[in-house]
Amino acid sequence: MNENFFSRIIESASVSGSKIFMVEHAGKTYTYNDLLNITSIFSEHLHNLGVEPGDRVAAQINKSPHGFLLYLAVLRVGGIFVPLNTAYTPKEVDYFLCDCKPAIFFCSAAKAVENKKAIDAHVRLGSVIFNDSGECATLLADVIHEELAPPVVRDGSDVAIIIYTSGTTGQPKGAMLTHANLTSNAQALTKAWMFDDSDVLLHALPIFHAHGLFISTHCVLLSGSKMIFLEKFDTTTVMENIPQSTVMMGVPTFYTRLLAAPGFDKELTRRMRLFISGSAPLLEESSQQFYERTGHVILERYGMTESAIITSNPYNLERKIGSVGLPIEGVQVRITAESGDSVAVGDVGSIEIKGPAVMKGYWNKPEKTAEEFTRDGWFKTGDLGRLDEEGYLYISGRGKDLVISGGYNVYPKEVELVIDAIPEVQESAVIGVPHPDFGEAVVAVVVPGEKSDTIAENVIAVCKENLAGYKVPKAVKVVAELPRNAMGKVLKAHLRAEHTSLFI
Ligand code: ATP
Ligand code: MG
Repeated sequence: MNENFFSRIIESASVSGSKIFMVEHAGKTYTYNDLLNITSIFSEHLHNLGVEPGDRVAAQINKSPHGFLLYLAVLRVGGIFVPLNTAYTPKEVDYFLCDCKPAIFFCSAAKAVENKKAIDAHVRLGSVIFNDSGECATLLADVIHEELAPPVVRDGSDVAIIIYTSGTTGQPKGAMLTHANLTSNAQALTKAWMFDDSDVLLHALPIFHAHGLFISTHCVLLSGSKMIFLEKFDTTTVMENIPQSTVMMGVPTFYTRLLAAPGFDKELTRRMRLFISGSAPLLEESSQQFYERTGHVILERYGMTESAIITSNPYNLERKIGSVGLPIEGVQVRITAESGDSVAVGDVGSIEIKGPAVMKGYWNKPEKTAEEFTRDGWFKTGDLGRLDEEGYLYISGRGKDLVISGGYNVYPKEVELVIDAIPEVQESAVIGVPHPDFGEAVVAVVVPGEKSDTIAENVIAVCKENLAGYKVPKAVKVVAELPRNAMGKVLKAHLRAEHTSLFI
């Protein structure tokens, strides 16, 4: 059997045929047959341009149907797709192109000029342009095309995508995901979230990140359903499309923005059967408000670039607010102490995982790969968490963000939850900074939701009331906004650097 993930798409697309697979906001539609035809043409062009199986094909392009079909065509031709965040600067692009040495770099005309030096130095066949309408003339040129190009034969262990992590804790790392990784995660999620051919996915995520590129779209492809493909998240457009949709996958900010919109209510979401959130922690308060407004409990799940989805709240059983749910089919999760032994149920420790969706390793980084796997083959996620008696996982934060104050562990999330519940606080980030007596001191960086002169005092008072003394912040910094990376994740390392000499 050809283990190229594209073969699984062909199986599903052959059944769905003339059914619509993708609708653009402007109304243009693509059927499953179109998907097969267009990716066949694209893959022939890729082949003719000189792309060989195993070659990297990098793309820094705006979201468009053809941009997405390019990804599928790269799988079809046996290449390795490397999506790059459109926000990356030339300096960052230079790092990625130098690291993955692609055969081709797909980008806009402006980016081809901006990145000329890096392209000349690192890209074997040069750049190919996607125009402002999201199309690529080179890929659309006529081909002598009698029958569809068969997908290049790939083994399950061959790499299909190199996708860079978000760079929240350091330099982004290229996670090598294989065809078997993609297949197992897609099959498990299609089943877990109960996709069928009557579903309509509202797709407003970027396609340079795992969530939008394949976690969401593969469920559509394998179930023969349809997706409404929006260029980006925009509250008005999303609300216009909700009544035509049944499922939405989003990051927490999608949900806070929808909650801020007056017309977002039970009536609007009547046809929806599922809202999913991930990529960053969902505030319990947002979840609660969402339930009150719509009657839907957002299904929170946990994943990472290196392993796609790891746990998910169940579709039919209880969805626990504040938890990221149970391991998905085939995945094992364990919580370990520093010794490497598993901790008791309920205790916080390092989250380690094993399963068919865990990446092959980091591209070009064998030492880093070896460091992140235990001797018995478990992947260290770098996150801290605990399991309850029923096996539900709760994330306490990242290992790198753990604060050790006076010898005691302080999990930032626990303190943030207390602070975020204060009405005048919009959001907060709790960090540890060097302290002469305590080793590290807890510091709260707070964004106010409303104007207040007493916010810092209130934060301290509420924390004293609700938390053990060593968890109470020794300082509160009020800021207009928290620093975030291109994926919208809070950069705690920046905050630590900024406040490092607060006490020393
Ligand atoms: P880098 O590895 O480069 O520092 P990153 O870890 O932010 O960046 P991603 O792979 O995009 O890069 O993000 C995965 C991380 O996102 C997880 O390790 C976890 O910390 C966080 N995350 C994902 N889903 C959730 C969730 N539902 N709740 C809390 N955290 C989440
Ligand atoms: Mg990470």
